[in-house]
Amino acid sequence: MNIVKAVLHEISMTLKKPFKTSLGTVTERRGLVLELHDKKGVIGLGEGVAFSEPWYTEETIDTSLIMLQKYLLPALLKEDLRHPEEAARVYGAVRGNPMAKAAVDMALWDLYARQSHKPLYELIGGTRKRALAGVAIGSQSIDDLLEQAKEAVSEGYTRVKVKIMPRYDIKPLTALRKAYPELSILADANSAYEGKEDELLAIDGLGLQMIEQPLSQKDLARHAALQKRLNTPICLDESIDSYDAAVNAIALNSCKVINIKIGRVGGLTEALKIVRLCQEHHIQVWCGGMLEFGISRAHNVALSMLPGFDIPGDLSSSSRYWEEDIAMPDVMVRSGEIEPFKGHGIGVSLNRKRLEEVTLHSFDIKK
Ligand SMILES: [Mg+2]
Repeated sequence: MNIVKAVLHEISMTLKKPFKTSLGTVTERRGLVLELHDKKGVIGLGEGVAFSEPWYTEETIDTSLIMLQKYLLPALLKEDLRHPEEAARVYGAVRGNPMAKAAVDMALWDLYARQSHKPLYELIGGTRKRALAGVAIGSQSIDDLLEQAKEAVSEGYTRVKVKIMPRYDIKPLTALRKAYPELSILADANSAYEGKEDELLAIDGLGLQMIEQPLSQKDLARHAALQKRLNTPICLDESIDSYDAAVNAIALNSCKVINIKIGRVGGLTEALKIVRLCQEHHIQVWCGGMLEFGISRAHNVALSMLPGFDIPGDLSSSSRYWEEDIAMPDVMVRSGEIEPFKGHGIGVSLNRKRLEEVTLHSFDIKK
């Protein structure tokens, strides 16, 4: 792939609205933008999607920075890869750290698709006409929830995900169900019900599309026991940090659905393997989001174009989160759907002016 240089930017941008989950509130979003340059000047783009604090998984922006600067990028520049799938050679020396690896993996796939003069979604076998969009609403007052849901429905979204936690579940979900009897509603617990499984039985009759990650990240056995007691399908998010984790969850019947995040599982190569595995085992998949910037968002759209992505993902318009994004054009939702970018690769480029405004540090790593 003739990669001659990597450029890594650490950025920080304020969200239009703070986003609250059972584990923390995000107001200021830090992120990593990775450019991989080939010798002809073609640039592949990736994004490090870890949060600033380790509330979602163990990784943070700071741990990703160390992994990328000290290990992954120097190892990448020593190799001469012909295809992104060969990057296992680069990752081999680093255990864990899937979000740091995914930043490299995304940039490799984008670069490869641009070098092949194809849109990334086409290259990976996407056949849908449009990706299905959905919004995620942080935990807040019931009035605010209903107001945000009203806005989302009026914008054409057909799926709303609500962040829940003990004492913020049955009331908001019932109010939302009453206001929108036809809406697909997901409840995302971010592991808040470990030891409080009984409380979930109270929301089992609300016709939720699924309950996401009710219990701890590593607790596949208790998820399996809980799934037996619930009619509502369990969707695993944080638990699935690799292909192997998906193999284990499926073998134990810990879930009926897996939310795939390219960052969380270590990149697009790993995500594609998990999609194939889930399809073989009739586990539904959809694409999750990380309050990301436009690069990871464009990668998510490409993934969501694959056949089988029939559940709306955490794919929203860039403008829902940012006044001005670092990538252009913006991802736009129309009538609950997203038209894929037709350009080569992920189809977006860096908005250099905006990138400069929000960059804290940039680093060049040369061959
Ligand atoms: Mg989640």
